[in-house]
Amino acid sequence: MKISLAVLDRQFQLHQAEYEAAALRALRSGWYILGPEVEGFEREFAAYVGTKYAVAVNSGLDALTLTVRALGIGAGDEVLVPANTYIATALAVTENGAKPVFVEPDEAYGIAADRIEAAITEATRAIMVVHLYGQASDMDAIRAVAARHAIPVIEDCAQSHGARYAGYMTGALGRAGCFSFYPTKNLGAFGDAGAVTTDDAELAAMLRKLRNYGSKVKYHNEVAGVNSRMDEIQAALLRTKLQHLPELVAERRRIAARYDAAIQNPHIVLPKVRDAKGDHVYHQYVVRTKARDAFQAYLKEAGIETVIHYPIPPHLAECYARLGGRRGDFPIAERYADEVLSLPMFNGMRVEEADYVIATINAWKGA
Ligand SMILES: *Cc1c(COP(=O)(O)O)cnc(C)c1O
Repeated sequence: MKISLAVLDRQFQLHQAEYEAAALRALRSGWYILGPEVEGFEREFAAYVGTKYAVAVNSGLDALTLTVRALGIGAGDEVLVPANTYIATALAVTENGAKPVFVEPDEAYGIAADRIEAAITEATRAIMVVHLYGQASDMDAIRAVAARHAIPVIEDCAQSHGARYAGYMTGALGRAGCFSFYPTKNLGAFGDAGAVTTDDAELAAMLRKLRNYGSKVKYHNEVAGVNSRMDEIQAALLRTKLQHLPELVAERRRIAARYDAAIQNPHIVLPKVRDAKGDHVYHQYVVRTKARDAFQAYLKEAGIETVIHYPIPPHLAECYARLGGRRGDFPIAERYADEVLSLPMFNGMRVEEADYVIATINAWKGA
């Protein structure tokens, strides 16, 4: 059997007629950017997440970068960022001239709540949490530290659409929730798109300005903004997919439960669910093994494609050499980068495919 990860056509086919109708509706409307479809999506997405506002932008990176900017964070400021995240989380900080201060992850791959306090200085202006792989971070503990220091929590929800914590959706747990709708995400568009959710009216208004050249009234540019507008076709498609998000999440959970129950190999560490408060939507199903590269090669040999999320932690990224990060600075994040592997997990995955992955893994003798 061959299991490729170039499978986005499958989730499209699950609801193909509805997507085609939505795209045509937008095409025929004669309005292509920031129009009624975007407004409708913003309203429906805010209702889904449980916040007062959602502001649509052009990508997850823009959602993060513009949120940091809208909160007035810039040169001389520090923002705490998990040491094991995707580079975008850190880029949102450095794009604004501020400094990312990395914090080691816990065993469930979220920022380690008990290591945050030690990283806070006079210059700390925000804590960025990433609900990595789709599991809500340790929010009670994180918010308690944030409240003690009166600094906002920004949630990177690029991988956690639909994940809850203590009854709230991720994206409604901090000052702002930053979402990506990159096609592979759990709520993926058919192109680039993103959004910020918040209850803060001032923040929402500033984001609306920033995404459209800094103007609320056309040609009255109050701040130096950017072009980060969502287009109507993507919004129409996202409205359609949002209606199916609960079933798409349920499908991922079913695949994860199958993996959880049946993968049995002493060399493989399965994903850990932190506690009963937060749930997991399995954007990725990530296992760990000491001989990761050999394991990945073995799976490839058996026709199973896998990805490493992520092989290089941000403090060791070439683009951040100027920050002076060294190997050994964040040993936990570095070990995860060396050991993690994301198994096939996608909407439209067949039971026989999951079972083939399971059988292949269970037959692995280690390296
Ligand atoms: C995908 C992703 C982003 C960036 O989203 P884009 O839409 O690709 O800009 C940011 N943070 C995390 C954790 C992501 O997975």
